[in-house]
Amino acid sequence: MIVVGAGIAGLVAARRLALGGREVTVLEASGRAGGQLARHTVGGLELDAGAESFATRGGTVAELAGRLGLGDDIVRPVDSPAWLYRADGTAMPLPSTSLLGIPAVPLARDVIDAIGMRAALRASLDLLLPSVVGAGSATLGELVRRRMGAAVLEQLVAPVVRGVHSADPDDLPVERAAPALRASLHREGSLSHAVAGIRASSPAGSQVAGIRGGMVRLVDRLLADLERFGVELRLHAAPQEVALDHVTVGAERLDGEVVVAAPRVGDAPGSTPETGRLISLVTLIVDRPELGAAPRGTGVLVELGAPGVRARALTHLTAKWPWIDESAGGFHALRLSYDGRFGGPEAISQAVADAGVLLGIPLDAPLDADAITWERAVPRTHSVDGMHYVGEAGAGTGLAAVIAQAESEAERLLGGGPEEQG
Ligand SMILES: Cc1cc2nc3c(=O)[nH]c(=O)nc-3n(C[C@H](O)[C@H](O)[C@H](O)COP(=O)(O)OP(=O)(O)OC[C@H]3O[C@@H](n4cnc5c(N)ncnc54)[C@H](O)[C@@H]3O)c2cc1C
Repeated sequence: MIVVGAGIAGLVAARRLALGGREVTVLEASGRAGGQLARHTVGGLELDAGAESFATRGGTVAELAGRLGLGDDIVRPVDSPAWLYRADGTAMPLPSTSLLGIPAVPLARDVIDAIGMRAALRASLDLLLPSVVGAGSATLGELVRRRMGAAVLEQLVAPVVRGVHSADPDDLPVERAAPALRASLHREGSLSHAVAGIRASSPAGSQVAGIRGGMVRLVDRLLADLERFGVELRLHAAPQEVALDHVTVGAERLDGEVVVAAPRVGDAPGSTPETGRLISLVTLIVDRPELGAAPRGTGVLVELGAPGVRARALTHLTAKWPWIDESAGGFHALRLSYDGRFGGPEAISQAVADAGVLLGIPLDAPLDADAITWERAVPRTHSVDGMHYVGEAGAGTGLAAVIAQAESEAERLLGGGPEEQG
């Protein structure tokens, strides 16, 4: 079988297929495997350059980590709320009981403090509205607006969704944002109770987890397994032609059932694949002992139109992940995200200025810095009948969704063969 693309989806599918006894070749266009899981070294610290955590729902990622021998290295972030930097230039912690910014208790003190009494009262109408109101909403934006009003959407949900999914809530299907939310709304009768129900089923602080040493260790372990199982990985190999039963790479034709694990590959002829949105990350290592008090918790999300900053989110890596703090020698690691392509010295000075505003502590030049730009996959719209697709373009953003789909598609290809023993 031929897997096109060696991101996490392609690697997981290839491993499962090889375990099922198939002969597998993986073709990767770039010079390294891992895709949006990658490492970089900044200020001597080895950090994730892409994804840095995973959603624990469903247990899929933890299960894979366990199978790869990383179960004991799964770590929790510090349980402290992220902050919000608001359009009026003030900063405050996000309401503590919420999901993607949607409050579980609309009239809680921290919700009233965040959006004001009038908007909180509007949000609490959610508890009185019939459960069908908004239940058929296609997007998260529509669902929240209809049940809780525009203030909750714009001031709480949008900054979180922009920070977490790099998307506007009005463009984000409910199922992609929170797979369990619609079913929970049906069951509980209101959006706030739906959020409370989901939160109760995963105790505080446990909705995301990471891996000591970085999420990218999943890639290291997957590659070791592929080598052990005799899978051939070819780098710098982007096929010119991708058909159901063969691909061509240069002058060579490779025959075998094809699994597409890369965006914009294997689309129906005549379609013009869209380029995904670009996001840039700037990582700073700074010497500022005052940051040891984690003045803005684990990080800050930025409301649209907030003054004086260009970043849309900041993660205080050394405040969020004890394993990073332990290896940082008292320095602080900050990661800021930006829309579009943003790099070079200009990006680094902008990030230093933004971090100062967002953390409320002006910063000097960093000890080291790195900027990197990523392209997020757009949903695949022109698939070919009979082609097997895995990965973000079909599964949605995030390791939990991508890994679960790659595992189940590989399983399906194997004809529902025996489950792998844990
Ligand atoms: C900055 C950032 C932060 C993130 N943070 C998180 C997070 O904290 N938690 C989380 O769960 N998710 C996070 N994500 C999302 C998550 O990383 C992705 O959803 C996931 O890694 C996608 O995996 P994939 O295999 O589908 O795609 P990719 O990782 O994009 O892999 C696709 C692969 O296909 C290759 N390819 C492309 N074209 C071709 C071709 N023509 N031929 C052969 N190969 C090709 C690419 O080079 C790449 O290696 C983050 C993503 C980014 C960029």
